[in-house]
Amino acid sequence: MFAAELMSNEPFYYFDNNATTRVAPEVLEAMLPFLTEQWGNPSSAYTFGNRLVGAVDAAREQVAALINADLREIIFTSCGTESSNAALNSVLLTRPGKRHLVTTAVEHSANLKFGEAFEKRGGEVTWLPVDRAGQLDVHELHEAIREDTAAVTVMLANNETGVIFPIEEIAAMCRAKNVLFHTDAVQTPGKLKLDVKAMGVDFMSLSAHKLHAPKGIGMLYVRRGTPWQPYVMGGGQESGRRGGTENVAQIVAFGRAAEMAMASLENDTSRIRALRDRMEASIMSSIEGVTRNGAKEPRLLNTSNLSFANCEAEAILLLLDREGICASSGSACTTGSLAPSHVLTAMGVSPEHALGSVRLSLSKYTTDAEVDFLLEKLPDMIAKLRGASPRSTEPVVQSAQS
Ligand SMILES: *Cc1c(COP(=O)(O)O)cnc(C)c1O
Repeated sequence: MFAAELMSNEPFYYFDNNATTRVAPEVLEAMLPFLTEQWGNPSSAYTFGNRLVGAVDAAREQVAALINADLREIIFTSCGTESSNAALNSVLLTRPGKRHLVTTAVEHSANLKFGEAFEKRGGEVTWLPVDRAGQLDVHELHEAIREDTAAVTVMLANNETGVIFPIEEIAAMCRAKNVLFHTDAVQTPGKLKLDVKAMGVDFMSLSAHKLHAPKGIGMLYVRRGTPWQPYVMGGGQESGRRGGTENVAQIVAFGRAAEMAMASLENDTSRIRALRDRMEASIMSSIEGVTRNGAKEPRLLNTSNLSFANCEAEAILLLLDREGICASSGSACTTGSLAPSHVLTAMGVSPEHALGSVRLSLSKYTTDAEVDFLLEKLPDMIAKLRGASPRSTEPVVQSAQS
């Protein structure tokens, strides 16, 4: 019944692709046989089960190709969060004398919460600041690495602003100082070319639901030769590196999505970038008091984070939602709390501006018509919220804070 309600014919305009993405029809088609006929356990001795090993291997090859890794360097996990937690957990266990981590103040909560928990257990974390444009000072990062530093973890691209960090440079610094380096690259497939060998990283986390596959499947790249201790302990799956019966259908979905993300990099990125730029430029020129949060470049081609002066994002999102437009303020993980985004706060954005910030994130499925609809509706909404719209007939929507 709930599903039927969701499938009503209400028009719906999706601008929240950094939170999650639509499952591609091709991906669903690839995974379905593994939920219907091919539901065996790949670890079984009989053919009905063990013939699925081939499907898992093929998907592993597709995911490895996406990041230029070798097959044995890919561990399937349940999500991006698990991948990042598992990497840092392993580093701390395999380098027992080292009780210091270096990261940034703008990581996804997956890394933030891990770091905070590590501090509570007596570990030390250096939380590197970012500048007004959301960018890191790599010199400062270099200085933060100590004798007892076990690992550095820095995201490749920020999910809220799209700002891209100089990962190759950071990885080289870590290698020179014999410190392991993890990057959360969850936001990047289909948007940036990924090559773990060229980047020189030891660990990289991805999550399939950010690239048009279902939620609940992720992967961790572990560079060959890197010491490993499992986070999820159990059966000998994933070469003993991650327990739990293989999520075959989801793994197959991830493989197909990885293949499509590579094609997307060739075919869709210039169109998405142009659409994002048109959307952003139009909003900034048609509405007063709009500023971009984060550097214009280097930035993910699909992301726009805009602050609306004298407006509350929660109220904007409510009006957008009434028109069927999905967007977000800050990260989805903090929705529901009215605290300003930790990313924008770290950038030195005032609480007032941060609470007036909306993130719009596009995908290859975003159409010109969707952007036009948003551009048609948004100016009046902002005017209404600022109490200045002559056309306003409805009462101004107030968020809980005002
Ligand atoms: C979505 C996201 C995650 C978390 O991935 P899950 O699979 O939802 O756990 C981690 N990092 C970034 C940058 C993300 O955007």
